Amino acid sequence: MEYEAIIGMEVHAQLLTKSKMFCSCDADFFGAEPNTHVCPVCMALPGALPVINREAVKKTILTGLALNCSIAEDAVFARKNYMYPDLPKGYQISQYELPLTVNGWLQIEGDDGKPKIVRIRRAHLEEDTGKLVHVEGASLVDFNRAGVPLLEIVSEPDMRSADEAYRYLLKLRTILRYLGVSTADMEKGAMRCEANVSVRPAGSDVLGTKVEVKNLNSFRSVRQALEYEIKRQIETIESGGRVVQVTMGWDMAHGHTVVQRSKEEAHDYRYFPEPDLPPLHVEREWVEEIAECLPELPDAKRDRFVRQYGLEKSAASTLVEDRSVADYFEETASSAEGIPPAQVANWIAGELFHLLNAAGVSIGDQPVTPKRLAGLLKLVASGAINQNTGKDVLKKMFQTGENASTIVERDGLAQVRDEDALLGLVRRIISENSKEADRYRSGKVSIIGWFVGQAMRETHGKADPKLVRELFQRELGR
Ligand SMILES: [Zn+2]
Repeated sequence: MEYEAIIGMEVHAQLLTKSKMFCSCDADFFGAEPNTHVCPVCMALPGALPVINREAVKKTILTGLALNCSIAEDAVFARKNYMYPDLPKGYQISQYELPLTVNGWLQIEGDDGKPKIVRIRRAHLEEDTGKLVHVEGASLVDFNRAGVPLLEIVSEPDMRSADEAYRYLLKLRTILRYLGVSTADMEKGAMRCEANVSVRPAGSDVLGTKVEVKNLNSFRSVRQALEYEIKRQIETIESGGRVVQVTMGWDMAHGHTVVQRSKEEAHDYRYFPEPDLPPLHVEREWVEEIAECLPELPDAKRDRFVRQYGLEKSAASTLVEDRSVADYFEETASSAEGIPPAQVANWIAGELFHLLNAAGVSIGDQPVTPKRLAGLLKLVASGAINQNTGKDVLKKMFQTGENASTIVERDGLAQVRDEDALLGLVRRIISENSKEADRYRSGKVSIIGWFVGQAMRETHGKADPKLVRELFQRELGR
């Protein structure tokens, strides 16, 4: 029997605010000594009262707008009660019945290659927990993270495979980064994700029992865990068993999911409105003001790149995945007058990405500025250097931060385009290889490439290959 998977995602992203959600502690605690970013509020000392962080509310609304959500006129913070040593208050301030934003959607590429809508149920605001550190014989708790604003984005179960879930997550990360609301860095825990997975016979409209998978700490583990869990559920059903509703964790080291506990229901948390905070009334004028801060989002940028620069859709998609790469492309294209933007895109997504990946740096942390790359592309386009030399020059620019023209001049890389000099070389090569010349003349014209190769070798790659080819064709009598 054919099965299909039904996947919904819950993503938590730490918001980039100066202070924590309900107190004035510095929210940027990365690398800090344990328990140095704490105060009576986030330590939940008796009598301490929370105050809502306006910037966190603003960034949540901005994200809600980017995800096509409706922004609530009245939102309410709620207590989510549960006991865990990293939760100082014994409850987490979250949102339950009246979240800030609801009913949005996000477009991804479906498994059939067509655009697909994933509905967003809600994006609400809450606070992060502290962190347990396990050492030999003891568990220590660090409250630096406790109270950091956390945006929870819940999708409807609209994804049908691990790949679609992966693309959803990637798209969400891109949008959060475009908005500047979160670093969305999964490896540093700034973005975390859980998935609900169930399977059912393909075409059925009955929902199977869902399993929640947690501890998905990287993009890779999301894909692997979901693939594993889908397979496990299908095998369970096929062998006559029943899928049990549980919460599983992903064991990266062993490559399988493990049962953590039976699934909690909402009533287990005994939600109730947070009595220490007033309901949040969101003025429409403020929402409009925030809407004006929305940047051009990745899909819109991709479509504009196709329209404005004549790029292929796939090339445009690659460039817009990272906003700084998209900006880099536009700056280079505007500095490189006369050079087709598609060529600029090729150099960035090809040679430059290659260098960035090998060095493990981002496009903003390397010395080849858009102006410098444009300078190099102009040298190639004018024929001063050929394509292959251009690649070598880019590598040197990347290492030294010099301009292309400086490197070309110093290293004597300019292309040999002196027709008289090249003609002598071409004639000599022909006379030294009369057998090959005869083969060419008797109709095996593809051997021209071999002749060009000889000339390129003798000039150490500096000859203009187009001119060399023309000279050979002329001298060989075609
Ligand atoms: Zn604090």
